[in-house]
Amino acid sequence: MADYMKEFHPTPRLLMGPGPSNVHPRVLQAMASPVVGHLDPQFVQVMIDVREMLRPVFGTRDGLTLALSGTGHAGMEASFCNLLEHGEKVLIAVNGFFGQRMTDIAARVGGEVHLVESTWGKPLDVNAIEVELKRLGRVKVVAMIHAETSTGVLNPVPEVARLAHEHGALLILDTVTSLGGMKVAMDEWDVDIAYSASQKCLGSPPGLSPISLEPRALEAMKARKTRVQSYYLDLVTLADYWSKTPRYHHTAPVSMFYAFRESLRMLHEEGLEVRFKRHTRNAAALWAGIEAMGLKLMVEPKWRLPQLTTVLIPEGVDDVKVRSTLLNEYNLEISGGFGPLAGKIWRVGLMGEGCYPSSVFYFLSSLEQVLTRMGYELPIGEGVAAAARALADYASSAR
Ligand SMILES: *Cc1c(COP(=O)(O)O)cnc(C)c1O
Repeated sequence: MADYMKEFHPTPRLLMGPGPSNVHPRVLQAMASPVVGHLDPQFVQVMIDVREMLRPVFGTRDGLTLALSGTGHAGMEASFCNLLEHGEKVLIAVNGFFGQRMTDIAARVGGEVHLVESTWGKPLDVNAIEVELKRLGRVKVVAMIHAETSTGVLNPVPEVARLAHEHGALLILDTVTSLGGMKVAMDEWDVDIAYSASQKCLGSPPGLSPISLEPRALEAMKARKTRVQSYYLDLVTLADYWSKTPRYHHTAPVSMFYAFRESLRMLHEEGLEVRFKRHTRNAAALWAGIEAMGLKLMVEPKWRLPQLTTVLIPEGVDDVKVRSTLLNEYNLEISGGFGPLAGKIWRVGLMGEGCYPSSVFYFLSSLEQVLTRMGYELPIGEGVAAAARALADYASSAR
């Protein structure tokens, strides 16, 4: 039998990169349920359940909330192509790879793209955004990343939202890495449109892109002079499919919705607050362990993301060799840096179903072994011990 005809049985990995993250067996099992039609009342109920369970995660009471067929990029494309028309000004705040990707997409949509750049690894500069908004005059859209996965930086949302609205602009917020791992509060922060992806902190496989719109964004879409150039991502026509009497728009990826529904059920069984604490607590242990090994973290504590940690690769250590050894011999996936950070950092995720103390301990001890084998000297056992102490400290301080 030709190799390509053989059965495929991938070795399970512990996924501690920037996504996808591990998926619970309950979610995988849900995907094995019978496929029904995408207009079957049973499936329509699944869509309604998904919407109801997503709203509190986005922090919206009655936004137009749905899930696009596609990954996080679908949400990004949909946000820009629905809100922007040809020649309209858009201001994008960039401090990493995903902010930069927004500028590419906004330009393809035909927007007049302006950007305010901050150093990769530092948070967005709110003052610089204000100065640029004053200079530009009428701006249709301001866009930013909440949790910049390329650097591990958390960006300030409420301040940018306030500025955008003071200048009559709408705010697009990327919550791909934040949603399900930390607080997202569209109503409270006054965000007009936010999107995410199923495979980071939400605990599903890749394939769906949740998105939510507030009334101002909907009004802007209805006031467009030109049609949205993408049929597939046109949110006004998609809203008809997500209505009580669904009309065919495209065939929803039925099994993905089963998975997503189950992962959202698990999220609410755990509770949002408990889940966020789980992320901050395990991240605190990871950071303590990394520092006790003598390694350095890139981002200062105030702006550090619990779900994605960036570690500076020590001088003389072979980035690719460390990562491939971890993958091939330890079945542990972490990721390297993008662009200016390639070869300089490791990105270590603790997202959703992968965010447990066992992941922290396994990562710290595996990395210690790999670095030691490669001749890099570090204090043996210190990382794991520090992580254990941090977990204990966190438990006692939480009481
Ligand atoms: C992963 C990611 C994306 C892109 O999502 P895909 O699912 O890979 O299309 C966008 N923004 C951020 C912040 C991300 O981390």
